[in-house]
Amino acid sequence: MPTPKKDLRGGRPIWADTPRIDVKHRSRLGEEKCDVAVVGAGISGALVALALAERGHDVVVVDRSEPCRGSTLASTAMIQFELDTSLTELADQKGAAHAERAYLRSFAAVKALGDLVARHDIKCAWKERQALYLAGNEHGWRALQDEAEYRKRIGLPSLFLSGTEVASTYGIQRTGAIISEGAAEVNPAQLAAGCLRAARRLGARLYSPHEVTKVHPHARGLDLETAAGITISARHAVFTTGYAVIPGLPRDKFEMVSTWAIATKPLPADAFWPNRCLIWEAADPYLYMRATWDNRIVAGGEDSKLKSPERRDEATPVKAQRLLAKVQKLLPGRDIKLDYAWAGAFADSPTGLPYLAPAPDLEHCFAVLGCGGNGITFSVIAAEIVRAWAEGKTDPDAKLFQ
Ligand SMILES: Cc1cc2nc3c(=O)[nH]c(=O)nc-3n(C[C@H](O)[C@H](O)[C@H](O)COP(=O)(O)OP(=O)(O)OC[C@H]3O[C@@H](n4cnc5c(N)ncnc54)[C@H](O)[C@@H]3O)c2cc1C
Repeated sequence: MPTPKKDLRGGRPIWADTPRIDVKHRSRLGEEKCDVAVVGAGISGALVALALAERGHDVVVVDRSEPCRGSTLASTAMIQFELDTSLTELADQKGAAHAERAYLRSFAAVKALGDLVARHDIKCAWKERQALYLAGNEHGWRALQDEAEYRKRIGLPSLFLSGTEVASTYGIQRTGAIISEGAAEVNPAQLAAGCLRAARRLGARLYSPHEVTKVHPHARGLDLETAAGITISARHAVFTTGYAVIPGLPRDKFEMVSTWAIATKPLPADAFWPNRCLIWEAADPYLYMRATWDNRIVAGGEDSKLKSPERRDEATPVKAQRLLAKVQKLLPGRDIKLDYAWAGAFADSPTGLPYLAPAPDLEHCFAVLGCGGNGITFSVIAAEIVRAWAEGKTDPDAKLFQ
């Protein structure tokens, strides 16, 4: 059951230089027994562990590296209910009922994450934002107008803006856009670390560095074996190993791609666009961007099918300059300079939906794989579905994400 060891990110993400991203953990692991073992201490593992610990489950979290240093550290952490696949397209692909439930569940997940941050008083630069979705070469203004109408019909807070309105409010030249409530920005590493700390306060044990390499299911649960031959006995195990995907998941349902991100040097506070909303575009290749608490712009995009981590990282200087040029073009008249550039792998699925389901061929195991640009929103949903599964219940939306 070893998970692949490819380097999943390169360069230095901005969050690496922020405080509160370390979590106390134990390095000495003896034979352990628990109710649920969580393998992987990124944002998915942190949310799963906290959701279970909040309900009184006895949880052990184990990571082969330092906690919160996987893909979570590379995330640009735009927290959105809007999926990479529009509601209209998803309804065409999966049927209206499936698409509408997936969107509504994502909307509820962003709200639930904000509530969790408040409940545990997690200091992670969480800020509720609007999201502005600009027309581009993939969807023009007519498609966005229809999309906004459809979202409104099912109760989502999205509104179409004409090109004139986009220009007069945001100073951006596009043929149209959708503005939505119900989004947020966050420091992803502080969020994950804060969740792990809260889970520890509720009794969860966190071990690192220990790699799970084998799984031995039996009638009452399973034994996880680490590379050092130590056993963790559990009733259930959840694999939140991110894009180090466990073997056995249907490989035809997702593809690994490369993506790049930058953070600028801080700008004057008045150099920002109205409400510092999250901005993304219906374009290929696309650009997305957000602000930070210390007046920087974090932007990303330029996705490519490059698989080799070496070639991905070699491309970072060129990709970073392209992202910077796009930001400068979108926001003319500002002195915008590059400070950080980094790259990462992520999983893309044709529907934009994640894979959150019992692991095929591994009894008592659940697999979490948050595909697309909404990985963190999907991690929240994963934690809710896993909690029901571990308690012998079925989440009413579980089938949507299988
Ligand atoms: C550049 C970039 C930008 C992104 N932007 C956004 C965004 O704006 N919004 C959004 O919602 N999502 C975004 N995402 C996606 C999001 O970051 C991911 O979905 C999320 O971070 C995945 O978290 P995770 O906990 O599942 O994985 P990780 O953070 O990678 O954690 C997995 C952990 O599992 C451990 N592990 C693996 N195998 C084993 C093993 N065998 N034994 C023990 N431990 C193991 C690893 O060491 C690691 O710590 C972005 C991703 C990238 C790369």
